[in-house]
Amino acid sequence: MKEVFNLYNTLTRQVEPIRPLQADRLTVYTCGPTVYGDAHIGNFRTFIYEDTLVKALRYFGYRVKWVMNITDVGHLTSDRDEGEDKLEVGARREGTTAWAVAKKYEQSFLADSAALRMAKPDRLVRATDCIEQQITLVQELEAKGYTYCISDGIYFDTSKFPTYGQMARLDIAGLQAGARVAMQEEKKHPTDFALWKFSPTDRTRDMEWSSPWGTGFPGWHLECSAIAMSTLGKQIDIHCGGTDHIPVHHTNEIAQSEAATGKQFARHWMHTDHLLVNGGKMSKSLGNLYTLADVTARGFDPLALRLLYYGASYRSKQNFTWHSLETNQKLLDRLRQQAAELPETGEDTGNAAAPLAAFRAALANDLNMPAAVAALIETMKSPLDPAAKRAFVTEVERVLSLGLLQEPEKATAIPDKIRQLAAAREERRREGKWDEADAIRRNIEAAGYELRDAVGGGKSQIRKKAQSK
Ligand code: AMP
Ligand code: ZN
Repeated sequence: MKEVFNLYNTLTRQVEPIRPLQADRLTVYTCGPTVYGDAHIGNFRTFIYEDTLVKALRYFGYRVKWVMNITDVGHLTSDRDEGEDKLEVGARREGTTAWAVAKKYEQSFLADSAALRMAKPDRLVRATDCIEQQITLVQELEAKGYTYCISDGIYFDTSKFPTYGQMARLDIAGLQAGARVAMQEEKKHPTDFALWKFSPTDRTRDMEWSSPWGTGFPGWHLECSAIAMSTLGKQIDIHCGGTDHIPVHHTNEIAQSEAATGKQFARHWMHTDHLLVNGGKMSKSLGNLYTLADVTARGFDPLALRLLYYGASYRSKQNFTWHSLETNQKLLDRLRQQAAELPETGEDTGNAAAPLAAFRAALANDLNMPAAVAALIETMKSPLDPAAKRAFVTEVERVLSLGLLQEPEKATAIPDKIRQLAAAREERRREGKWDEADAIRRNIEAAGYELRDAVGGGKSQIRKKAQSK
């Protein structure tokens, strides 16, 4: 018997113990990034919490199989199947193909994930690599009478699935009344969603496939059901994503999976609430849609961002400010410094047991990361013997992944003033004020720091210049 691990379940709106379908094993599916641009620090809040969940479950002894998809086709600019494919928007923006955009941003997602010390999912599956499974799923739904065809595609008839919208507690009647105006007019019900979309007749899409219904591409929700069920089985233990996915994407995943199999799709749903910036929604138009490149361009360690995420429960919104990142960078530097002072070898005194119990209790209490980090901070400043402290840090790092045992970057810590200059220079570059940006660069260099511009025009990194004798 494993220790109980409690996690809030959006299905029941309660904190519940995780009960694996198969003893000791857990299957976890997480909705991955839509690779039409760099993932922002809000997306990474959700991804880091998912990574931390998987690490915590493994730490508790479960054999976890973790699958994540890469959305590289079919996600339209509106989650409700309207608008343009986001990958096509990206292709137009960059004057290239949807395929090239997908490749570029998949790579950048993987690089950012590695910098944030995310574990690699056991399977990372692109939507475009499992078109066949998606077509098969539509055929199953068609055979069972859940689909209908209109001019732009094959749709799922949500009125045929009696428990539609249950997890999200959707007010179906209200939606019926309110949404008529904006909806695709041939759709039978506002909540019906596309399973397969037809290609336009006047041009060829970069990404399209032939199917029993004609040339086209899969609807966005379909990929997650098809990938989850083909890699993990008809029923999975835990399905994760951001809270924005509850009313549409996950509601539709449940409908199409359960209609096809007649079984409950996921037993436990974990949703991470949103990261806000300066108290509001992040958006390109407000200029506050930050990526990991923005974080490193200002001289912060990606793992300071990871530590920042731990500062609030995944179930509440979290507000990001550059000031809070700075506070977390300082905390990280201090923890690393404390860890560096511990002896590398020493007799295991067994005294780490009590603080480790506190750490485990925090994890098992609905992944309470603020409490887990508090256990770390308390232990580091407690009178516990150094060997036990080191044993403690080594253990908690399996979950926290903060690089606590790496060399503290005393020599490379970037002063606030230099970070502010680098941020100002990024602004100028964004505005195309190259002369001003160059002047700031010279100031940064005169202060003993250098900027390394990233290949491909990304954000630059600040480093301390090597000491010259
Ligand atoms: P996307 O790339 O848009 O498919 O989103 C990737 C993940 O990030 C999904 O699980 C979203 O629910 C989640 N997400 C989107 N915006 C935010 C945000 N501001 N804060 C936290 N998670 C988010
Ligand atoms: Zn999904």
